Amino acid sequence: MSELAYPYEAPASQALFDRAAAVTPGGVNSPVRAFGAVGGTPRFMVSGSGPYLTDADGREYVDLVCSWGPMILGHAHPEVIAAVQEAVARGMSFGTPAEGEVALAEAMVERVAPLEEVRLVSSGTEATMSAIRLARGFTRRTKVIKFAGCYHGHVDSLLAAAGSGVATFALPDTPGVTGAQASDTIVLPYNDLEAVHAAFAAHPGEIACVITEASPGNMGVVPPLPGFNQGLRDACAANGALFVSDEVMTGFRTSRAGWYGVEGVVPDLMTFGKVMGGGFPAAAFGGRADVMAHLAPAGPVYQAGTLSGNPVATAAGLAQLRLLDDAAYEKVDAVSARIQSLVTEALGKEGVAHTLQTASNMFSVFFTDRPVRNYEDAKAQESFRFTAFFHSLLSNGVYLPPSSFESWFVSAAHDERAVQRIADALPAAARAAAEATA
Ligand code: PLP
Repeated sequence: MSELAYPYEAPASQALFDRAAAVTPGGVNSPVRAFGAVGGTPRFMVSGSGPYLTDADGREYVDLVCSWGPMILGHAHPEVIAAVQEAVARGMSFGTPAEGEVALAEAMVERVAPLEEVRLVSSGTEATMSAIRLARGFTRRTKVIKFAGCYHGHVDSLLAAAGSGVATFALPDTPGVTGAQASDTIVLPYNDLEAVHAAFAAHPGEIACVITEASPGNMGVVPPLPGFNQGLRDACAANGALFVSDEVMTGFRTSRAGWYGVEGVVPDLMTFGKVMGGGFPAAAFGGRADVMAHLAPAGPVYQAGTLSGNPVATAAGLAQLRLLDDAAYEKVDAVSARIQSLVTEALGKEGVAHTLQTASNMFSVFFTDRPVRNYEDAKAQESFRFTAFFHSLLSNGVYLPPSSFESWFVSAAHDERAVQRIADALPAAARAAAEATA
């Protein structure tokens, strides 16, 4: 595939990207949307329906991003639209308590047993930031353990990424995060319980919490090894720290009760976003009632939000959750499994070394034949093959995440026609991956 082919494939999107770049840094409002990892013109979407997105050039794509997870019922689900229309007609925001937010909180608590109380916020970043503050306020300790390759939003202290070795004090990963903010974060290799035990031993009485993605999807899909999350749970309990499970991505997606529903490990605090907002900005953190009781106004740890529990967002989230019954999850799981086997078959036929990893219906492909257990393993893949694979699929109407370090997402709306479209596009993409050079 010619490199020059990318920028001219989507003239209307390119024109919008040029306009955007004049008024917005990098032309996008969230970095990965800029196609930096794969090159070419980011597609500007104008509409979505079921499993499809349509771009500004009028081309339709089977969507395997689903807004990075939220659209688990597909785009523009009629019953979610109806709930939103009904809510919006009653007013956009009151700045007072309202019934919708109670109903959404009740629906979440009903599904996820360890979630005794929940506080609604507007983004996953806010959820993890607030959970960390609460953990620090509750334990009166400062340090936080996180894992390399786990993303918890752009919270200053959580943007610290891995140094090498065990219990490295992280350097800030981005300008703008101070050394002080980063120095309270201990970054450890994922799936390495020994490193966790060593960090607790090195910092007795200092660690407020361990935060982890319940099953990571932000370095590609790298599920916890058997016993890892339980080991974190036990290490936290033994050392007086809180175990914070970030279910922003997995929550209400990997099962009715998220990753908790798959594995059953009980966290002290949990964070949510994406699916629970039905495509609107709604997120949450919650967990043990005795810990949540430390949150204002019940307790001293401050946290607030003008648009928290927004009536339109909560109506969308509640409508989506109500539609997510066992049959819906069976459908998502089944279509995910179909697509997974089509991908493996196509890459296998072309002899492309790859490892497809899953966490329930979340999955991603690593261009390596070795299992990927942590961020170092993920970085060792041949990402240049992904670039060729991605662009071939894109030009044949299949929209993948524009990076090899992201989970793929499907929805209950991905029907036979959408799957066939993917099946038709895969052989050429697999060939492109096979022929790609670094
Ligand atoms: N936590 C996890 C596991 C995520 O995947 C994300 C976003 O992708 C976040 C937190 C941050 O959520 P938001 O982008 O809504 O701030």
